Amino acid sequence: MSATAVSVPMPAVPRRRRSPEEVAAAAPVTAPKRVLLAAPRGYCAGVDRAVIAVEKALEHYGAPVYVRKQIVHNVHVVSSLEARGAIFVEENEEVPAGELVVFSAHGVSPAVVQSAADRGLRTIDATCPLVTKVHKEAVRFAEDNHILLIGHEGHEEVEGTYGEAPESTTIVNNPEEARTVQVDDPDHLIWLSQTTLSVDETMEIVDILRERFPNLQNPPSDDICYATTNRQVAIKKIAPQAELVIVVGSANSSNSVRLVEVALEYGAKASYRVDFANEIDEAWFVGVASVGVTSGASVPEVLVQDVLRLLAEYGYGSVEEVVTAEEDILFSLPKELRATMKAAGDPTYKMGAKSNS
Ligand code: SF4
Repeated sequence: MSATAVSVPMPAVPRRRRSPEEVAAAAPVTAPKRVLLAAPRGYCAGVDRAVIAVEKALEHYGAPVYVRKQIVHNVHVVSSLEARGAIFVEENEEVPAGELVVFSAHGVSPAVVQSAADRGLRTIDATCPLVTKVHKEAVRFAEDNHILLIGHEGHEEVEGTYGEAPESTTIVNNPEEARTVQVDDPDHLIWLSQTTLSVDETMEIVDILRERFPNLQNPPSDDICYATTNRQVAIKKIAPQAELVIVVGSANSSNSVRLVEVALEYGAKASYRVDFANEIDEAWFVGVASVGVTSGASVPEVLVQDVLRLLAEYGYGSVEEVVTAEEDILFSLPKELRATMKAAGDPTYKMGAKSNS
């Protein structure tokens, strides 16, 4: 099962049109023009599951369905669901008592769950199972340890994980904070992380922490999820061969922003993030033979195909897919929703959400 794309008008971003001829005249390209298309890219199973959860909630309960925060960090997905009757709110207090609210893929703290119960809201929890795993780790390890949570303060996922054990958790945003963070008991210390960070930067932070606190414990398994890791591995392979890397994804999508950083770090001469193909500045193509393309874990494939169409207009019609992993992870839908779908005779209640590619 995959979430269905809905046609929503592209935003009216003025095109800074340079024709293919103007781009070619600005600097001749001698090597054959080509696109290196990363795989895996785009939707992960957790995003697919969250989007399907809202779609199915609309189908089975009818509009409006309230969604706390952006269900996933993508402008197009949010606009598509709004067009179908989803109402996005920042907090439970904006949802009328008794109504249905869906919690986003990024997860929520126990305080948010409690506030929904206090308001008598019906809830569907679309938290990605891999985020739930980190929450459970936080609860378990907080019993005997202090947690150093590597992640970006203010990001919804970090707020949710922190909220599981606020008295026992300190957020570490970056290497600088790793050098200065203070702890009471360095012998009962464990690190956890946000799921969508740069793998390399996270390990740099862990190394700094371990140098200062040699008894720092590792989590039982990686918190950075398979989808984040796989998309970074794919762009690392492409970046050294690409003069330009275009990442499709929204500005508030942590894993999309990390893909731009990783592309630059691994040798791309330039890298830009765009929400839509019409944000591409054709001046980026001047003198460029090889263009890398990828997309963040919250990006539907239709947006990547729009970018490929624009690239083809500018002579980059030859597309080579660079496959570094196959993704076959399936997540079942949220249990509250499955029960409703089953009771309504919807045969898709058993099907799993999955990655794009
Ligand atoms: S990026 Fe990873 S943690 Fe986030 S929704 Fe996707 S699979 Fe889950």
